[in-house]
Amino acid sequence: MKPMVLGCIADDFTGATDLANNLVRGGMRVVQAIGVPAQPLDTQADAVVVALKSRTLPVHDAIAQSLAALRWLQAQGAQQIYFKYCSTFDSTTQGNIGPVAEALMAALGTDFTIATPAFPDNHRTVFKGHLFVGDALLNESGMQNHPLTPMNDANLVRVLQGQCAGQVGLIDYRVVAQGGAAIQAHIAQLRSQGVRLAVVDAISNDDLMRLAPALRGMPLVTAGSGVAIGLPGNFGLAPSSTASALPPAVGQQAVVSGSCSLATNRQVQAFIQSGRPALAIDPLQISARQAAGGDVVADTLAWAQPLLAQGPLLVYSSAEAKAVKAVQEQLGAGAAGALVEHTLASIARGLVTLGVRQLVLAGGETSGACVQALNISQLRIGPQIDPGVPWCHAQSDAAAGAGLHLTLKSGNFGTDDFFSKAFGQLA
Ligand code: ADP
Repeated sequence: MKPMVLGCIADDFTGATDLANNLVRGGMRVVQAIGVPAQPLDTQADAVVVALKSRTLPVHDAIAQSLAALRWLQAQGAQQIYFKYCSTFDSTTQGNIGPVAEALMAALGTDFTIATPAFPDNHRTVFKGHLFVGDALLNESGMQNHPLTPMNDANLVRVLQGQCAGQVGLIDYRVVAQGGAAIQAHIAQLRSQGVRLAVVDAISNDDLMRLAPALRGMPLVTAGSGVAIGLPGNFGLAPSSTASALPPAVGQQAVVSGSCSLATNRQVQAFIQSGRPALAIDPLQISARQAAGGDVVADTLAWAQPLLAQGPLLVYSSAEAKAVKAVQEQLGAGAAGALVEHTLASIARGLVTLGVRQLVLAGGETSGACVQALNISQLRIGPQIDPGVPWCHAQSDAAAGAGLHLTLKSGNFGTDDFFSKAFGQLA
C-alpha cells in the first residue's frame, strides 16, 4: 500500500470534514478518522485527517491529544503535518492554537511554521495580519460574543503572540503577491530574525495558490481549511474525479436534523414544502412521553418504516430561536441539547437498522452524536454537495456489515434545497 503523504490534525469534527473536502477537491484521496485510531490505516489514502475535539479543552489536554495524533500520522508515513483550526481563529487568550502549534513544532524538530485562517471561498480573508469575516473585522463580526472563544482582536500577529513562547511575525500581501520564491526568501529572512511563526496574508484563492509552493517540504503547516486547496499540487496531485469516488449508493434515504441554525431551518421548510414526509421531535414531548412509559424513538421508527420505501423522509427537532429559548428555559440549555442529541442519535441508528443507507445529518453536535451512535470510526471523503459539505462513506455495525453514505452538514452551510439536492447528487 502506498503510504499517505499528508497527515492532518483538526481541532474539531465538522472542521475536519471541511479540510478533507478541500483536499479532495485538490485531487487527494482522503480518509477522516474520528479521534486517534487504535490501528494502522487499512485503506489507501493520500491524506488522513484525524478529527479531535480539542478546540476548547484545557491546553495540556489539547497538546497531549494533538501529539498522539502526530505520532499515529508519522507511523503511517506522513511527510508533512497540517494542524487545522477554525477560519475565525477560535481560541482563548491561552490557546489552544499557539501552544498546540509550538508543541507540534518541538516534536517535529522544526523552528518555523506559518499560520493563516484565510478561506476566501467562505469570505475569511487576512490583510496586514488582520482577519476579516465578510466585510467586518473579526472582533466586529459577532465572534466577539462567542460563548466559548470570544475573539476581541482581529490582529492575528498580536493574538497568536499572546499564545506563543516563540516570536510571531507576518508575511504580508505584498510578499505573497510576488509568489513562491519571494515568500521563501522572506521566510528565510524572518527565520534569521528569530521569528518562529508567521501569519500569512491571503485575500483570494490566487494568494493561497501562490503560497502553496513555498510550503513544499515545510514539516508543519498550521491553517484553516483554505490553504489546503494548493497543497495537493506539491505532491504531484491534480484535481480529478477519482479522488472523490465513493462506492455506488444503495438503500433508503433519510435526513436527521438537530440544527436550529437559520440555514437549516430554511432547509427543513423547503423539504416539507416539497411534499416529502417529515416528523417533528419536540424536546418537551420526549420527556413527557418518557414519563408516560412511552418511547419517542420507537414511535418515530414505527412512523418511518412504511414510508421509507417511497423515498426520502425527514426527522427534525430544528426549531426557531424563540421555541428553542422556551424549551431551554424549561429544561436548561445543556439538558435540552443532550436530550435531543441522544434521541436523534438513537433514531439515526434505528433508521440505518431499518435499511437507510443514504443519511443526511444536520448540525455539528448532532452529527457527532449520530456518528458515535453508529459506531463509525472512519469516513472516506467523497464529492462536495455545497462548499464545506461532502458526501462521505463509512462502515457501521448498524448497517449489518455494509457501508452507508452520509453527510455531516454544519448548521449554517448549504443552500435551501440542500436535502433534496444531496440525494439527487448521489443518484
Ligand atoms: P449547529 O451546527 O446548527 O450548531 P448543532 O447540532 O451543533 O447544530 O447544535 C444544535 C444543538 O441544539 C444540539 O445540542 C441540539 O441537540 C439542540 N437542539 C436541537 N433542537 C432543539 C430544540 N428544539 N430545542 C432545544 N435544543 C435543541
